[in-house]
Amino acid sequence: MTISVHGLAVSRGIAIGRAVIVASSRVDVAHYFVQADQIESEIERLRQARNAVVEEIVKVQQSLHELGPNDAHPELTALLDVHLMLLQDEQLTSGVKHWIVERHYNAEWALTTQLEVIARQFDEMEDPYLRERKADLEQVVERMLRFMRGVALPVAADARHAHDSAEAPLVLIAHDLSPADMLQFKQSVFAGFVTDVGGKTSHTAIVARSMDIPAVVGARSASHLIKQDDWVIIDGDAGVVLVDPSPILLAEYGFKQRQGEVERERLSRLKNTPAVTLDGQRIELLANIEQPEDAVAALKAGAVGVGLFRSEFLFMGRGGNLPDEEEQYQAYRRAIEGMQGLPVTIRTVDVGADKPLDRGASRAGEDHLNPALGLRAIRWSLAEPSMFLVQLRAILRAAVHGPVNLLIPMLAHASEIRQTLALVNRAREQLDSAEVPYGHVKLGAMIEVPAAALTIPLFLRHFDFLSVGTNDLIQYTLAIDRADEAVSHLYDPVHPAVLHLLASTIAQCLERGKGVSVCGEMAGDVTLTRLLLGLGLRSFSMHPSQILAVKQQILRCDTARLQTWAQSVLAAEDPAALMTD
Ligand code: PEP
Ligand code: MG
Repeated sequence: MTISVHGLAVSRGIAIGRAVIVASSRVDVAHYFVQADQIESEIERLRQARNAVVEEIVKVQQSLHELGPNDAHPELTALLDVHLMLLQDEQLTSGVKHWIVERHYNAEWALTTQLEVIARQFDEMEDPYLRERKADLEQVVERMLRFMRGVALPVAADARHAHDSAEAPLVLIAHDLSPADMLQFKQSVFAGFVTDVGGKTSHTAIVARSMDIPAVVGARSASHLIKQDDWVIIDGDAGVVLVDPSPILLAEYGFKQRQGEVERERLSRLKNTPAVTLDGQRIELLANIEQPEDAVAALKAGAVGVGLFRSEFLFMGRGGNLPDEEEQYQAYRRAIEGMQGLPVTIRTVDVGADKPLDRGASRAGEDHLNPALGLRAIRWSLAEPSMFLVQLRAILRAAVHGPVNLLIPMLAHASEIRQTLALVNRAREQLDSAEVPYGHVKLGAMIEVPAAALTIPLFLRHFDFLSVGTNDLIQYTLAIDRADEAVSHLYDPVHPAVLHLLASTIAQCLERGKGVSVCGEMAGDVTLTRLLLGLGLRSFSMHPSQILAVKQQILRCDTARLQTWAQSVLAAEDPAALMTD
């Protein structure tokens, strides 16, 4: 019987495929397909890992035995017996083999998939003692994974190409994924994503959107309702997931999927069309990127530059090992060269809130704190000046290779502005005294906190341009955690308060002849294009996948007429009601 699960639509399109349930803690396991002739060696890798772990446990048992009866820990001995038993369990071994032989999963993926299958059975057990054995199973699997990481490197494979069998596409179902996890999946086999938690503008959702594959977040119990290998339809337009769909539904959604492809094909013809409105206003369409390699997609979509390079993705998921100056310089340089002479706006690191450096990195005893209001973005950088200087030097050096704008996130105080500018100068001085060449950069500030939006003249005195981060501006204006699906219905981009802050920021920049752009998700939302144009915005930065659809809207607009309409939206008690006029 088909069941439907409702969540938030975060990335458009339809995906139809078999479910792969991934535990949040194991998303860093490699997922790729092996060729038919590699199946035997994959099974052998598993066998070796299992034997090694068995050996490890037997050794511990022996040393316990040597301690003599008085010092031996009977509980530990019993536990080790359980671990040995689990390692030899037929359901684990034959299940894992099944995923390798039948589905061509690599060994690690097969192992974690089977772990999920068995873990669910444990969850359903009545007996609390047996239920708790799930943790033991997880431990032995963890040991095997660790062994495999050290022993055999996965065959470097672009999974999409290695997957030569005519299998169904796969969709990923997880309780939660961190933004860094999502990034790992960027090169992966998955045709769509569903997570139980997450808001529409959470960073996980943003990365899903950048991957341009259908995704639904905040689907609450999806990862429990959906079983490994179930057929699933992800409707990324409606925010619905259909589990075990009937043949009629499959046919209907298959048709919608093909229609989507036709639409994309049609839009792709706009790539080289200049983004000019009916009344001749030229609009700048820029790309938001997370990795230097995204420059390819940006150019392909016809972006005229990068309006936001979220540099923090270079810093995340590295076990606290931050990239040094050389590594950062090379990464920025790749992005700049990738854009072939077009400007690249590099935002200094914005970690914290829903972008921790590492999964589960919250500090002990701080669970009651709100990270969105804590040491995030520029606050973090100013608290770690030597780290910040490393980044500033790397960006300045990279600016030798093309036009670069340096963008600072989440400023709110004049003192933060002063400290930041002083550090930029210090970075220049350090490069001067080391005789290292560096380039000129334009300096920009993000307007993402109401305090900043209400003190625009201060920012205009110190910066060359402003970029409005509407994702955070909305979050902080309306006191809505952007990553919390429980309050996502209150996350309202056209709330009068948000619109007033946005409109007055744009107006003041225009008056002073300073550049202003919007780089939050509002910029890529086609339902808001007319409003932003009407408010005077001429520069939009968004994921490459959204550029052509926004351009299509722009080509149909007359900004002179939109200006009057936008003023009436601004004055309305319920702006959303006027949005369809
Ligand atoms: C924003 O807040 O709108 C923004 C673009 O920054 P981020 O989404 O990375 O917080
Ligand atoms: Mg932000």
